[in-house]
Amino acid sequence: MLVRDEAAKLAGEIAELRHAIHREPEIGLDLPKTQRKVLDALSGLPLKVSTGKAVSSVTAVLRGGRLGPVVLLRGDMDALPVTEETGLPYASAIPGAMHACGHDLHTAMLAGAAKLLCARQAEVPGTVIFMFQPGEEGYAGARYMIGEGVLDAAGERPVAAYALHVSGNKLPCGMFSTRPGPMLAAADQITVTVHGRGGHASQPHRAADPIPAACEMVIALQTMVTRKFDVFDPVVITVGSFHAGTTDNVIPDQARFLATARSYSAASRTALAELVPRLITDIAGAHGLTADAEYAAEYPVTVNDATEAAFAGQVIAEAFGPDRGETAKFPITGAEDFSFVLEEVPGAFIFLGACPPDRDPETAPTNHSAIAMFDDSVLAEGTALYAELALRRLATG
Ligand SMILES: [Zn+2]
Ligand SMILES: [Zn+2]
Repeated sequence: MLVRDEAAKLAGEIAELRHAIHREPEIGLDLPKTQRKVLDALSGLPLKVSTGKAVSSVTAVLRGGRLGPVVLLRGDMDALPVTEETGLPYASAIPGAMHACGHDLHTAMLAGAAKLLCARQAEVPGTVIFMFQPGEEGYAGARYMIGEGVLDAAGERPVAAYALHVSGNKLPCGMFSTRPGPMLAAADQITVTVHGRGGHASQPHRAADPIPAACEMVIALQTMVTRKFDVFDPVVITVGSFHAGTTDNVIPDQARFLATARSYSAASRTALAELVPRLITDIAGAHGLTADAEYAAEYPVTVNDATEAAFAGQVIAEAFGPDRGETAKFPITGAEDFSFVLEEVPGAFIFLGACPPDRDPETAPTNHSAIAMFDDSVLAEGTALYAELALRRLATG
């Protein structure tokens, strides 16, 4: 039987697991209820299952009946601090938490793939590591799992690693999308505090006003992006938080702002880490003020291996048909901690369109929206792709 048909037979139970996870979303690195659901879904299967120490991860290893290499499949499990407004029958029962990025689908599809591949254990030509990861949304859960040995869970390093991610918009339902090279941006955080000297707002010359200097920094960062970086190696800086003062007639002591910096190359990222703090402190100095500028590295660039991305594209075409896959023209400016895995193991990150068929992908709400929806119809297809990638990659040796 075709892998796709086997996945279709599991569709009901995969959807059930997805809905159960969706109803009880958990945020961050500690997801005990989600972990429990995954462990229950895997129980009784011929897997070596272990759980994380510092984080509530699940690592499962399937040894196939035939000799071969190791492949890793990853699904993230965490939700977001969003209050769901979809009105779905299985909507989140927890105010302030929602699977608005579709990680509930990833978890359920990966569990489905584990079950499917276990049923074929005798013919699996190698070993599969199933990486159920908490804390993707800003907590670097993948890095914790790497630290706890997920890449060595099978005794030897994987030859390839793959992750799927659903998209609530842009892609038509059921369309797979990947590309060679950079797939998602590096994301870093800039924290700035401008130190002035407060006083009466009518006599600014007797104070040291941090607000105009901080405003100048916000604009100068945008100028820096256009003057210091190659337009063909793009950089995005957005100041998303800016706070100073309490009222109109008082000059405050301090102004603070937070920015995110996105980039696609190690060279740009290194330049950002050097140029941003210098720009901030120099502008402060020009106004007789001081400033602290902290550049904190968060997620690296998610770089697909060219060969693995091409391989994934070929698997999609062969297993689902040539019209079901596309090569993304551009990377996206979001970030992913699967980047930490891809720094160690060649692989590919693949998007799967999950926009409900009654919505227009062009105008549908994006992932992270309180009304984002992901269609159950993709669950069997995502499960099948996970399984196909493992089977076919292992077979190539
Ligand atoms: Zn997300
Ligand atoms: Zn996500």
